[in-house]
Amino acid sequence: MEKQEAKRLGHRLVLVVYPFQGHINPMLQLATILYSKGFSITIAHPQFNSPNHENHPEFHFVSIPDGLSKTNFSPSNFMAAISALNSNCEAPFQQYMEEMMKVEDPHDRVAGVVYDGFMHFAQVVAINLKLPGINVRTSAAATLLLFAVFPDAHHEKGYISFPESLAQAPVPELQSLDLKGILGSTEIPTPILELRATVTDTTKKASAIIVNTVHFLEQQTLTKVQEHFPSPVFSLGPFHKLAPSASSSLLKEDSSCISWLDKQAPKSVICISFGSMVSMDEKELVEMAWGLANSEQPFLWVVRPGSVRGLEWIELLPESFKERVEGRGCIVKWAPQKEVLAHGAVGGFWSHCGWNSTLESVCEGVPMLCRPYFGDQGLSAKYVCSVWKVGLELEGDLERGKIERAIRRLMVETEGVEIRQRAKDLKHKAELCLSEDGSTYNALNELAQHILSFG
Ligand code: UDP
Repeated sequence: MEKQEAKRLGHRLVLVVYPFQGHINPMLQLATILYSKGFSITIAHPQFNSPNHENHPEFHFVSIPDGLSKTNFSPSNFMAAISALNSNCEAPFQQYMEEMMKVEDPHDRVAGVVYDGFMHFAQVVAINLKLPGINVRTSAAATLLLFAVFPDAHHEKGYISFPESLAQAPVPELQSLDLKGILGSTEIPTPILELRATVTDTTKKASAIIVNTVHFLEQQTLTKVQEHFPSPVFSLGPFHKLAPSASSSLLKEDSSCISWLDKQAPKSVICISFGSMVSMDEKELVEMAWGLANSEQPFLWVVRPGSVRGLEWIELLPESFKERVEGRGCIVKWAPQKEVLAHGAVGGFWSHCGWNSTLESVCEGVPMLCRPYFGDQGLSAKYVCSVWKVGLELEGDLERGKIERAIRRLMVETEGVEIRQRAKDLKHKAELCLSEDGSTYNALNELAQHILSFG
């Protein structure tokens, strides 16, 4: 601790969090990374889904009044959440920053506002206060490009294509993306068009852009991104490996699954988790259960309470299923996912392809079964299955026979062996990026210099 205090640079960064699990985790990891470079850290977060302050005594936390309790706010309405947070948090955040800067210690000066790209109000406040704003992308760099070319990109017959005049697809496999997979519809709703315009405009005004990606994973894409945005882009991923930080789970992690994994054979278990937002219907739950049972593979299944519409948890699953998978299956409500994926018994990950889960799997060399639901998940699945070729996609309706075959293809058949080898290679490459003179290591040093150059 004393050593860390000695390294403090006298520069404080204020990080603004978008309060959903898939954004809280990378933002707190980024805070740990920046702290390790000597910056003092303030975490500004809305009252909703507050991270646990006690896990990070090294940071200063400030809770921004978000006014959400006075509205008909539903966390599952993504667009409404972003819009409400941006309009409600701007004034209190600006007031907080003004007061903080009034009583500023010259040895602890605010050097910039580092904000999640969805909290675009923070860039406005940064400009008002003549502070540098640093935009953080917690999903793939390709999503920056996709947002930038909407709606000019063609979206005919339900597919969105990068037009040649504007921005060719960074890699051929991403040339044509299924719009329905991304938005749940073949029409682009007006609020999404408005959001993409604001987010892109804000990103263009930022003094720097940080992306939770690894350079070699998105090399061509990053070149295109840099052509689109004037400020320097820093690929600092995978955040969770660069500076492992305390858990920031909003739900309680059930670590009994780790002792269960300890008893399983190496690389034998398929882990299933669809993250913090995806929901499914009862039929899908039942088909998944029997697909897993019939695959004869050991499995660790995370079913988040409330994620099956109309159910509290898994009360619908019959005794016959439980008897059939006794000892071979472990079902929990929330797991310490990074630890699970790093466990030697895990040989496959059936995922919704949230970007954090994708990176966590890639970094542990775990091959994936991809089942994207919405947003950037379809794009991540394309990367996994078609570009990096470290997974298989489970398309169409969820049906037990199809699930059983897909699991066996990934876990026991020759095809799976080849996929596993590629996943192992990818893990190795990601490790090299973190080591001295690796792309992430260098990008972090360059970012620290860039921030200090703001004066
Ligand atoms: N996660 C976890 N335990 C679980 C399921 C998920 O700790 O049982 C973590 C996971 O490691 C990841 C985050 O929750 O860091 C989910 O983020 P992701 O981008 O994968 O998906 P989202 O929840 O945003 O859809």
